[in-house]
Amino acid sequence: MKIAVYPGSFDPVSNGHLDIIERVSKVFDKVYVLVSLNPYKTYIFSGEERVELLKFATKHLDNVEVEASNQLVLNYAKQKQAKVIIRGLRNFIDYQNEITLFQFNHSIDQDIDTFVLFPSTNNLFLSSSSIKELVMFDSEIKDYVPAGLADRIKERISAVLNKNSKL
Ligand code: ADP
Repeated sequence: MKIAVYPGSFDPVSNGHLDIIERVSKVFDKVYVLVSLNPYKTYIFSGEERVELLKFATKHLDNVEVEASNQLVLNYAKQKQAKVIIRGLRNFIDYQNEITLFQFNHSIDQDIDTFVLFPSTNNLFLSSSSIKELVMFDSEIKDYVPAGLADRIKERISAVLNKNSKL
């Protein structure tokens, strides 16, 4: 059985993430989408909320499971018997981060590899941060987040940003 883990912050899930998940789910028998902790980021959505949004976005994909974990991605992958970690690569900034992450992971465990996917054209410039920025400046996000989630994502980001941002 071919098993992959797609780890990330998903704060919140975007169409770019969903596109990667859909494409990977066609190639692997089982895909675990892992909401994990990035020590360099602060989050708007709680871990539970991010899991819930991802579950809603991937409900049409039978072989995809969403979970959250604070453990090292490699340990989570091993626990799931996954041999592959999936990451997305949009630009040189991602390249720098991803190659460092890969070298780090590979130096610890050579049995688990990393497969990198390029975004589909529509999602090339899309990030969770750009979704937050759009909400901040009162712009529409429907085209950038999975169907049925725009209002919920907007509400949550607005609530947090209104609380925290004053000129
Ligand atoms: P992390 O904090 O782990 O970088 P993200 O949620 O920002 O978490 O991203 C998870 C993974 O998805 C990363 O590999 C990132 O490069 C990739 N990714 C993010 N947005 C897109 C997108 N629009 N298209 C393709 N891959 C993406």
